[in-house]
Amino acid sequence: MNRLTASCSSLPNNGTGSNRTPELGSAASEPLDRESTDVTHSERTPVMRTLRGIAVSPGIAVGSVLALDPRGRNLPARSISQENVKTELARLESSLLEARSEAEAAEADAAVRLGPEYAAILGAHARMIDDPTLRQKAADRIRHELISAEHAVIEVLEAVADRLHSFSDAHLSARAADVHDILERILDRLANAADHPHGVLGPGSLDRPCVVLTHDLSPSQTARLDPDRVLGFATEAGGPTSHTAIVAAALEIPAVVGLGPFLDAAARRASQVIIDGDEGIVVLDPDPETLEKYRQASKLRSELRPDLSGLIGLPGETRDHQAIELLGNIEFLAEVDICKLRGAAGIGLFRTEFLYLNSDRPPTEDEQYEVYSSLLRSMQGFPVTIRTLDLGADKLPGGSPSEVAEPNPSLGLRSLRLSLQEPSLFRTQLRALLRAAALGDLRLMFPLVSTVAEFRQARKMLHDVADELARDGVDCGTRIPVGAMIEVPAAALMADHLAKEVDFFSIGTNDLIQYTLAADRANENVAYLYNAADPSVLRLLRMVVEAARPRKLPVNLCGSMGGEPLFTPLLLGLGLKQLSMPPHQLLEVKQVVRSISMSEAVALADTVLRLDSAELVTRHLRETFNSLRVDTAPESTATVEPTCKPRGPGRRGEPRS
Ligand code: PEP
Ligand code: MG
Repeated sequence: MNRLTASCSSLPNNGTGSNRTPELGSAASEPLDRESTDVTHSERTPVMRTLRGIAVSPGIAVGSVLALDPRGRNLPARSISQENVKTELARLESSLLEARSEAEAAEADAAVRLGPEYAAILGAHARMIDDPTLRQKAADRIRHELISAEHAVIEVLEAVADRLHSFSDAHLSARAADVHDILERILDRLANAADHPHGVLGPGSLDRPCVVLTHDLSPSQTARLDPDRVLGFATEAGGPTSHTAIVAAALEIPAVVGLGPFLDAAARRASQVIIDGDEGIVVLDPDPETLEKYRQASKLRSELRPDLSGLIGLPGETRDHQAIELLGNIEFLAEVDICKLRGAAGIGLFRTEFLYLNSDRPPTEDEQYEVYSSLLRSMQGFPVTIRTLDLGADKLPGGSPSEVAEPNPSLGLRSLRLSLQEPSLFRTQLRALLRAAALGDLRLMFPLVSTVAEFRQARKMLHDVADELARDGVDCGTRIPVGAMIEVPAAALMADHLAKEVDFFSIGTNDLIQYTLAADRANENVAYLYNAADPSVLRLLRMVVEAARPRKLPVNLCGSMGGEPLFTPLLLGLGLKQLSMPPHQLLEVKQVVRSISMSEAVALADTVLRLDSAELVTRHLRETFNSLRVDTAPESTATVEPTCKPRGPGRRGEPRS
């Protein structure tokens, strides 16, 4: 009997008192041996596996796999070089020692607080961690398969857990949870010892291009991805308009999210993967024909992609010459060039939270001033709408104001609510914005306004900060338009009252949809409900546009819906004259705008608003879209010279491999 499984057998039987040592020992001694055979076998003959998820960032990526921990913890790449074997063996050893002492400490604590039966469970964990078989099997893998300590431990212990799971005996299969528990403990220790300060995906931490497979990526992890190294990514969690998805599209990294649980041992061991960010397909270990098919498809994709550059210099207007302003949504200064290159009429949304997310302390006033002023300078007089901080308390670096995890962060202290509760954080941002406003056409908007009072309070703070700057003789902008984002149904319903307070509205459909349908925008399980075409959402859009009309207030739409050509005719028909979108969508949307007359768009909106389901709305929009006589671009008449360099391989539409 090997020692690892002997240790498993000493686990108490949930208080039943029966000693299950013989069964567990004999049954569980098998997996370790069988598992090594399986591994060798599966590595020799990988089986192609096709998965379907939510396509969030277009393009096709083909590359070797960098699989992260199933629970989302950053792990190093699986393969290591021969020179690193010694280091990995040392990391394995110290992590096992630390994890064992931790379990022993937990055992002592449990003995005092909970009693000997519970302490025995943790004692058994300590012995499992200390088992020479675990140590030896993991070390063998490091030496012979040249894999990192994390992957070695995962593979050894998951095989044991899988085997335990397969038993029909409930007590035996429940022991798998204990194995996972010790796996987590060891991985935690290894993660603490990780030598990359930014985690495995941080700048400079990848030495070769790869495709990332993981449980989830936070928006800030995504923002740090190096598009030259991360060819694409696929995640188990996530929804269509999560911030992670938005950032992936901004970086033009093909991505599929919401795949559900798929990161098992076989997926982590896959040598190659295809990410199809157009169709939401992920293929693990593709066979040669599939690989070839995707390479061809992606070549064709870039060849067939219509060249819309001829539209760049043409006005954004309908067939009957109604002007429509098409603006860019950006998260990073580096995206300004692409907005200009694609003829944006300005920036309709600059998401400032990435200034906060990428650092472990909030940016200072001067640091922010630098960013906002460079943005205004580089937009050369075009309008720039900057949104104040839109962070949830859970994401605030340096700790949330309440220091208490919120049970429902998206219904909690986020966005403007957080800014109002953290006046010094908010005032710092407002000072930087007001100073930068002296340099160009800056417009400012507050996210997630829920009530009229909230907007008034924010605007009052802005006035106070402006007075303070004026008293100090600091040069700053005057008469800055101040808008409210309409992202909460309450704000849409009160839009006629809000209209008396604001200079403009900007509709954030990403949040408006989630709050209207009570469907988390980042939760794949309710993605079927989250639908921009839902009639309830369309009614709210119409309500906002109508509330703004008597005062001739500008209404922008800056949620992802604004960049989806299928919705363009409907949005025009609802009365929207400004649409803001990721820069890569600008020309496709402009093409649709130029292909429809306002009277056609209005008739379409009238019809669609009488329908009672998202399915019917979508069908109707598709029919209209397919019948459009598309305004094909004349031969390239581009008047704007490219100002940014292409980022090398993997531009949109080209294979990233
Ligand atoms: C929105 O909610 O539509 C929006 C534009 O804001 P964000 O996606 O940053 O929440
Ligand atoms: Mg929003």
